[in-house]
Amino acid sequence: MNFIKEELSTPIAAKYDVIVVGAGPAGIAAALSCARGGLNTLIFDRVNCLGGGWTAGLINPLFDHQNKSGILSELISDLDASGQWGGFFNMSFNYEYMKHLLDTKMQQAGVDVLLNTFFAKTITENNRVTGVITENIDGRKAYLAKIVFDCTGDGSVCADAGCEFQLGSEENGYKDCQPMTLMFLVGNVPEKYKEGAMLGDVLKRAYEKAGKDLPYFRPFLIPIPNSKFAVLQFTHMYEYNPLSAKDISAATVAGRQQIIDAFDALKRFDPDFSELELITSANVLGVRESRRIVGEYTLTLEDLVEGRQFEDAVANVTYGIDVHAKHGSSRNYQMIRPYQIPMRCLIPKGFYGLIVAGRCISGSMDSMASYRVTGNCCQMGETAGKVAVAAIKAGIDVRDVDVKPLFNCN
Ligand SMILES: Cc1cc2nc3c(=O)[nH]c(=O)nc-3n(C[C@H](O)[C@H](O)[C@H](O)COP(=O)(O)OP(=O)(O)OC[C@H]3O[C@@H](n4cnc5c(N)ncnc54)[C@H](O)[C@@H]3O)c2cc1C
Repeated sequence: MNFIKEELSTPIAAKYDVIVVGAGPAGIAAALSCARGGLNTLIFDRVNCLGGGWTAGLINPLFDHQNKSGILSELISDLDASGQWGGFFNMSFNYEYMKHLLDTKMQQAGVDVLLNTFFAKTITENNRVTGVITENIDGRKAYLAKIVFDCTGDGSVCADAGCEFQLGSEENGYKDCQPMTLMFLVGNVPEKYKEGAMLGDVLKRAYEKAGKDLPYFRPFLIPIPNSKFAVLQFTHMYEYNPLSAKDISAATVAGRQQIIDAFDALKRFDPDFSELELITSANVLGVRESRRIVGEYTLTLEDLVEGRQFEDAVANVTYGIDVHAKHGSSRNYQMIRPYQIPMRCLIPKGFYGLIVAGRCISGSMDSMASYRVTGNCCQMGETAGKVAVAAIKAGIDVRDVDVKPLFNCN
């Protein structure tokens, strides 16, 4: 590869106690937790809203929230109080209200928020992360912090700092990562599906009549509370590389094609759906799996099967191993015993001033397929935020914090 040499001198925009990169369920909880604990906190995201998968990704329902108090139950009870919670499985929410609620929570907690802001580079001194460089309408800026949270879902901050990571399987790399999905909204859903449904058989029949292959056999139609719309979890793009801009672009284009195919097949070949309306696809492609950062501990399949509990637990998980494998594969849903995630999975091995939270923490492929759902990402972000508060206040490393008294375990 040829290189162009850049001479860069980047202005330092501000210094914070904590910077959270990525405002998905893990990031928003980490930021709120840090600010409420008295830390000067910045959160930023490359899209134009807070919430990550919850909002920009059009993800619903909110799995694994039942056994959790803290920020997650606070968000749910606020949504519920304003009639924006319920719907499918009684655990879905209205996207626009979720965005507004998260804006409000950040304002109330005094978190500085930057939207439409890209993480560009990590600032490091040997194995210590001391800040990040961002790019947005203001140009390129440096922000310094005592602790940086990588809540990008892709572990991009950790990878740039030089942390070890895994991608997919040892044998096939990214090709064994879970498929990507572009969620999309539809309107005028037939009365009989208004409460939500699995549309596998319905779509299979319509696709047979259309003479096309079904991309996925377990699609869900999920009604959105307080709206006339439902979201369809249907498109499935296999074997694209989540760390390649070219592949992500190609998967997005393939997703949009699958949406048009599904809409046409339903409208033309199923009389129930003759009035169906196509509203919009998600702002961002849904990536189920990319980097898994290697931490001070790596969660294993055995931990899930045994239901392991840890002294330094940051989240309680009850959700099973949910793999969207191709039709006919034996790798699908598998039950687990309720288990915990230790803080050590959130500390990149050998690195300082850096915490990773969300789907990119340290775990095997199987275990990631369980803890990746949003309730768990939110709870681990919240507890890790408390660990950051304790570490910064005591002037110690996050590894030396006693996590047990900080974990809101029920
Ligand atoms: C199609 C699909 C369906 C799913 N269905 C469900 C479901 O029904 N229920 C459920 O609970 N879970 C579901 N999940 C899982 C869940 O949505 C994710 O695992 C979860 O959102 C991960 O949370 P997170 O905070 O780690 O990351 P994310 O929610 O992905 O948030 C990461 C944030 O970081 C930002 N970011 C990334 N890179 C940068 C950068 N360079 N600069 C600035 N910002 C950046 C992103 O814009 C994003 O906002 C689904 C996932 C997918 C893909």
